Amino acid sequence: MRPTILALALALTSCGGSTPPPAQLDLYFIDVEGGQATLIITPAGETLLVDAGFPGTGGFASQPGDPATARDPQRILEVAKLAGVTRIDYLLVTHFHADHVGGVPELSHLIPIDTFVDHGGVTEDADRVAGTKAIHAAYVAVREAGRHLEPTPGDRLPLVEVDVTVVSTAGATLTSPLDDARSAPTASCLTAGIPAQESTENPRSTGFLLQFGRFRFLDVGDLTGEPLHQLSCPSDRLGPVDVYLVSHHGGADAAGPSIFSAIRPRVAILNNGATKGGAAPTLKTLQAIASTETWQLHRSEATGAENAAAERIANLDTSTAHWIKISAYEDGSFVVTNPRTGATTQYPAR
Ligand SMILES: [Zn+2]
Repeated sequence: MRPTILALALALTSCGGSTPPPAQLDLYFIDVEGGQATLIITPAGETLLVDAGFPGTGGFASQPGDPATARDPQRILEVAKLAGVTRIDYLLVTHFHADHVGGVPELSHLIPIDTFVDHGGVTEDADRVAGTKAIHAAYVAVREAGRHLEPTPGDRLPLVEVDVTVVSTAGATLTSPLDDARSAPTASCLTAGIPAQESTENPRSTGFLLQFGRFRFLDVGDLTGEPLHQLSCPSDRLGPVDVYLVSHHGGADAAGPSIFSAIRPRVAILNNGATKGGAAPTLKTLQAIASTETWQLHRSEATGAENAAAERIANLDTSTAHWIKISAYEDGSFVVTNPRTGATTQYPAR
């Protein structure tokens, strides 16, 4: 008996010892109080940062100042350090509003940024949101020091191991559906799209679909109005996704049901602030979809907001600035971590 047991034990040891851990993709949804900053780290160690939050003290009227005290760039740096990241390989700027691009000049002093991805320039009427042209100019001065990519819908970013396909940019969207899209018409397209609350930069957002094995993540920045509608109507162009960062921080113009019924997200994340995004109509739309679990960066104080369960909210008030982390695997399974509670929630492969 003895030799047999020993042989078996050796076989098990050798088998267990040679199995590498599964390749893991990490996504950190950083709290920038109703702006966007999402840090993605691929299994190969490449980094993709989507937006850099507000400049200075935070807020649309804030100006870039001392990087050492810049609220959002410092929050990004903190997460980067935690994740062992020392450079940003790709910075994708979804659009040129202060809550997305404002933090870039200060961040560039805190961590090297190699390649800038965006939709180029602003339109003549961009200053309908005051300060947009100035903040774009400050960003361009930083961008000139790096590599610049200005993709069109359907283009892939040159990351290895993950497919990052641009689905919208500069007002244009995919002209043909992705491979995973259903050909059938989207049922809820009977209702027209909701007009964009802000009609210059938001509908020009550069959005992408990231695919890692069977795991699929959609981030379209603040894409709203007709371009958002076109991604799901009259028929789906994207296919099912595991995680959807709800457009425009979950503002009321992201509430249209067609995108949700087309992509059927298992998890919807709101990068809302306490009083920005997280609008009642969007939360109501999400509550009505039994197959989708909603996670929020903040408890929404919007009138009539039906918030997600507290365990799926990272910050219950403005006294904390917790991120939400997702670790995803090639089989499509993923784990969501809420650092406020320390709890993790497992989502199995589809
Ligand atoms: Zn925004």
